[in-house]
Amino acid sequence: MIEFINVDKVYKNNVKALDNINISINQGEFVAIIGLSGAGKSTLLRCINRMHEITSGQLMVNDTNVSKLKGKEVRTFRRKIGMIFQSFNLVTRTTVLNNVLVSFVPDLSLFRKWTGIFAYEHKVKALSALDKVGILDKAFVRVDQLSGGQQQRVALARTLAQNPDIILADEPIASLDPITSKQVMEDFKIINRDMNITVLMNIHHVEVALEYADRIIGVREGKVVYDGKASEVTEAV
Ligand code: ADP
Ligand code: ADP
Repeated sequence: MIEFINVDKVYKNNVKALDNINISINQGEFVAIIGLSGAGKSTLLRCINRMHEITSGQLMVNDTNVSKLKGKEVRTFRRKIGMIFQSFNLVTRTTVLNNVLVSFVPDLSLFRKWTGIFAYEHKVKALSALDKVGILDKAFVRVDQLSGGQQQRVALARTLAQNPDIILADEPIASLDPITSKQVMEDFKIINRDMNITVLMNIHHVEVALEYADRIIGVREGKVVYDGKASEVTEAV
């Protein structure tokens, strides 16, 4: 459960990116957030995992008051929330499997030391996550040999390996062609449905949002201007 109660976010330059946001999202929902560039979509997502801090109001994620988390608690909290970016954020010069295994490393500076000694259990989890998104056969291929769609699936597998409750996806298909986009959206849908993972996705392709999401939240100038079932959207939001 994700709950925004009267949430404002004002950046240091005085830009009010979120203006009195009230939203409640249940476990297992697939929500698309739509709106023009600069509307506040990214900020909204990034407050949920504390990449940004809210300025006022209250933000609850599974009974955790996000603003109250301190130091190490933030890292533990984030392990249950996967984040997917437009740019995939992978290490392209190493294998697909290594990129997934990195989700088990507590501190990235230790990665070199860790590569040789990943627990059997971690490798099994990583491989099964790759299987889930249909790229198990690419496990030992270097990431830079893959297409954009395949790379986004690696990012998705890396997130899945952590057993997240929630996946936040910030324009995950923005740099993909229409066919690949559909395949990636299918993966999100399967993960959402089969694993009951809440998916919260910023997306500017409204038609794609309507096709895959259960619920649409429209954001404009930091405010929620639409919130309803995807199946009930009749006019352009
Ligand atoms: P969207 O994701 O809908 O494009 P953003 O959340 O990125 O919108 O941005 C909302 C507003 O906040 C915009 O006016 C943007 O310029 C501003 N903004 C975003 N990030 C920052 C930041 N780190 N510092 C200052 N202003 C920011
Ligand atoms: P090399 O080119 O000799 O492999 P690198 O500097 O590229 O050396 O990285 C060393 C190892 O650590 C590589 O396996 C690299 O891919 C891995 N690594 C470092 N950071 C990450 C990360 N964020 N995700 C995945 N692998 C990483």
